[in-house]
Amino acid sequence: MSIEAYPIEVDFPDISVHEHSPSGIAYVHTFDSGVPGPHVMINALTHGNEVCGAIVVDELLRRQLRPRRGRLTLGFANVAAYLSFDPAKPDAARFVDQDFNRVWTAATLDDTSRTSSELARARAMRPLIDTVDALLDLHSMHEKSKPLIVAGPLQKGSELAVKLGTPATVICDEGHPEGRRMRDYEGFGDPASAKNALLIECGQHWERGAVGVARDTTARFLMLAGVIDETDLPPGWLAPVPAAQHIVRVTQPVVATSMDFRFAAPYTGLEIFEKAGAVIGWSNGEAVLTPYDNCMLVMPSLRQLRPGVTVVRLGKIEQTVTRADTTGR
Ligand SMILES: [Zn+2]
Repeated sequence: MSIEAYPIEVDFPDISVHEHSPSGIAYVHTFDSGVPGPHVMINALTHGNEVCGAIVVDELLRRQLRPRRGRLTLGFANVAAYLSFDPAKPDAARFVDQDFNRVWTAATLDDTSRTSSELARARAMRPLIDTVDALLDLHSMHEKSKPLIVAGPLQKGSELAVKLGTPATVICDEGHPEGRRMRDYEGFGDPASAKNALLIECGQHWERGAVGVARDTTARFLMLAGVIDETDLPPGWLAPVPAAQHIVRVTQPVVATSMDFRFAAPYTGLEIFEKAGAVIGWSNGEAVLTPYDNCMLVMPSLRQLRPGVTVVRLGKIEQTVTRADTTGR
């Protein structure tokens, strides 16, 4: 596993101009078309050092993108963490006190005996999130891996991912034992609800290519929801869609039990092991083996290594969806 620092290829936008909002929630802006339609949200900075989403939301706010139908919310979530970003310690700005993306249950948010920078922010955003019909949560990854969609555990998530058409890998998963993600909160995680959410891992945190993925997926998500038309978009935001999308079901996490964990090779993610029993790493000196054939590594990383942290998740390729038309229009 390489722990070298990746170069910071993008500029971090000054988002202070977006602090004041008529919504009353700092850094979260909602626009109502006055025409019936869904409430669609593009969310950036769930993790404070994942800048590609912030670049895209900043661009859309500066361009004054407005919905033609329904409501559009453009927001920056963990601004406190973002503002703490230090290029000398780039991984530290993921959160201030705790992971913002592990607090999204009503029970956790209602429990006033618990406080943190992230809980305060989640509680401030919660009334707004409760009204969102379709959420796109823009993230990036510790390691330089191809982009992927985190579609959640439900069929409605993977169906939406296939409608979006890109990126090529759709990860279906239950989330993390440490706590629920925003993309799984309430109606997003309820099969009986029409609400839906996707999380996009656009690329490595600071690679330029991640911004292109964030632009493309944001544009397609807004068009798919019907809140804007293609002509409303900045030129060049749409990229071709892949000719095939793999639907991958995460079956289990590999959780470190101590600091004594290492991978067998410098994996960056989406590696496929054809045969069960392949050694992918070592935990306390014991081999960690793939449990089945055609096993995919999902977002391996040792950057946040400590006992109890998921260092990689294992996924099984369930389905491959192919398309002849890769314009995705
Ligand atoms: Zn993230």
